Amino acid sequence: MKTLVLGTNNKKKGIELAELLSPYRIEVKTLADFDKKLDVTEDGKTFLENARKKASEQAAFLNAWVIGEDSGLCVNALDGAPGIYSARFASLSDGLDCSGQDFSGKNASDGANNQRLLELLNDTAWEKRTAHYTCAAVLSDPSGTIRGESEGCCRGIIRFEPSGSGGFGYDPLFEIAEYHRTFGEISAAIKRTISHRAGAIRKLMPHILAAYA
Ligand code: IMP
Repeated sequence: MKTLVLGTNNKKKGIELAELLSPYRIEVKTLADFDKKLDVTEDGKTFLENARKKASEQAAFLNAWVIGEDSGLCVNALDGAPGIYSARFASLSDGLDCSGQDFSGKNASDGANNQRLLELLNDTAWEKRTAHYTCAAVLSDPSGTIRGESEGCCRGIIRFEPSGSGGFGYDPLFEIAEYHRTFGEISAAIKRTISHRAGAIRKLMPHILAAYA
């Protein structure tokens, strides 16, 4: 059985990837399975730049095949914020200045990030609250050379108040375009099928299978 490392400590994401790869006899690990791993600085300007960094630096360090991924929420009325700063939105000195080089902000709690988002949108009209989740996924070989990359997207609209307890992050506020339900209100199984992350990983599959053939 061959091994593929998903460059995250999030075991739930590891389980999702393992399900997608289960027909192919590829064992999936996450960084949580390793005692020593790199703490990669996410200082790229795009999701793809961050995902490339996470993939190739971690792969060279672990001497393993690694998928690096980076994801976040982009809200049209906020010029794409919080974007690559999604995890630390509430900690940024200026939540709207997402073009600056402010990497000082530490990851904030989901509750604080959601509150910040609602405050900034304030009474923005429903039809102007459109948004999308994006995920970039990059595959690196053990030398740190990138062997494939992809992006997945999921469109939606930001509710005026949170609803549902499923998912994580901005999910209770994010109403999926075609479902009229938030990611917080639907099952994990449906999210695994339609999410930005699932889309990105599915598009990366040909590269993964080519590498493991
Ligand atoms: P990461 O790329 O998984 O570290 O995600 C970065 C941040 O984007 C998370 O901390 C969340 O705030 C947000 N995010 C990414 N994907 C999702 C999702 O599927 N649901 C909710 N929030 C997400």
